Amino acid sequence: EARDPHQREFLQAVKEVMDSVWPFVEEVPHYAEQGLLDRLVEPERVIQFRIPWTDDEGVVRVNRGWRVQHNSALGPYKGGMRFKPDLTLSVLKFLAFEQTFKNALTTLPLGGGKGGADFDPKGKSEGEVMRFCQSLVLELSRHVGPHTDVPAGDIGVGEREIGFMAGMARKITNSAEAVFTGKNLSFGGSHLRKQATGYGVIYFTERMLARRGESLEGKSIAISGAGNVAQHAIEKAMQHGARVVTASDSSGAVFDPAGFDEEKFAALQHIKNVERGSLETYAEKFGLAFEKGKHPWGAKAEIAMPCATQNELMEKDAKTLAENGTRYVVEGANMPVSADALEVFKEAGVCFAPGKAANAGGVAVSGLEMSQGSMGLRWPREEVEQRLQSIMCEIEESCAVYGTKNGDCVNYVDGANVVGFTRVADAMLAQGVT
Ligand code: NDP
Repeated sequence: EARDPHQREFLQAVKEVMDSVWPFVEEVPHYAEQGLLDRLVEPERVIQFRIPWTDDEGVVRVNRGWRVQHNSALGPYKGGMRFKPDLTLSVLKFLAFEQTFKNALTTLPLGGGKGGADFDPKGKSEGEVMRFCQSLVLELSRHVGPHTDVPAGDIGVGEREIGFMAGMARKITNSAEAVFTGKNLSFGGSHLRKQATGYGVIYFTERMLARRGESLEGKSIAISGAGNVAQHAIEKAMQHGARVVTASDSSGAVFDPAGFDEEKFAALQHIKNVERGSLETYAEKFGLAFEKGKHPWGAKAEIAMPCATQNELMEKDAKTLAENGTRYVVEGANMPVSADALEVFKEAGVCFAPGKAANAGGVAVSGLEMSQGSMGLRWPREEVEQRLQSIMCEIEESCAVYGTKNGDCVNYVDGANVVGFTRVADAMLAQGVT
């Protein structure tokens, strides 16, 4: 805390991991050697840079960009770029730290990183977004590369932004080698990368339920968010016969006890992805209840899946959900559940899966996109889907092996932290003090 006094999110993430792994480190003392823990919490490199660009009125604007290269013991740094006006270095350091363990859980040879800018893509023209992305890459390209650091998308960065960045990177470096994942299929993308995180969350949930003799069929799910992760979680949940009764965005939350169907889902995608509009418009179109500026945690649902952003489900929300009968909480977003809320779930016997395990499907398919790129081929959709499914199953299994039992529910937090930690720690110890 003395070292990073204003980095609340980063300290929160470090504390959560250390709480899990400390008892384990005490039992296996060799993990305390070589200053390992001190090295593990310190990013290998943090880059901060200026992003000047010209808006449609000819006015020069200046944003701040970052890339946090947290740990490369397992492979090139890998993690998304986030565009959000309130983005801070603390948020990016927490995300890069978490990403290191998440990537280790996939078993793919990927280190951990994260980056972004305090830029708001909302309300900007296509030309402005493109000029911004190009200016960002003019600097970022010095620090990334297929064997160094391979960024992807995150909040505010979808296929369009990745296309603009990858295009400029290709031009500057005079090389078509992929330095981004999440690319469009027309130029080196992988099938299912867009869907991977949301689908992966559902595959993980399915395994979690199966372990207790249950399935998704007929279950009610409260989902937050309406972006990439939320949309694909909704789509896959519907395919599994579940009833998704909420969605949310920065304008508020929509409640739909009957649940999404194909028509509503298509309308949601059109409003969010094509019109780039708000959920309020969606709620009006279907005459659904809408709560302005709220999260959807007042809903009655057996499963809650926060898929929007960090710290969006707080202690009071956790109490409401537990009182309303929620029995499973699965994080689609990164650290959406606060530490206090997590305690509430523990006490109430709610089965909880952390994002670093449940939402690893995105980075897993990014890893598969890199493999396809380096082999110069593209696997069919079915093959990618089958690989994604088996990676999510393996992650669930490995958490279950290491996670202590809390009642009849696996402690996925400890399981994910210990498994991720041992993989990164073993690689670091084998490479000496670097
Ligand atoms: P998107 O930008 O596609 O969607 C984010 C959604 O969350 C939007 O609907 C946005 O609302 C909403 N949102 C953002 N901030 C807030 C807030 N403060 N209050 C309420 N709603 C908010 O991002 P993704 O779906 O890609 O990412 C969502 C989460 O999942 C993030 O935590 C991300 O780190 C994590 N994640 C993403 C992966 C990926 O592959 N994309 C991989 C693993 C994790 P609005 O539409 O109004 O902007």
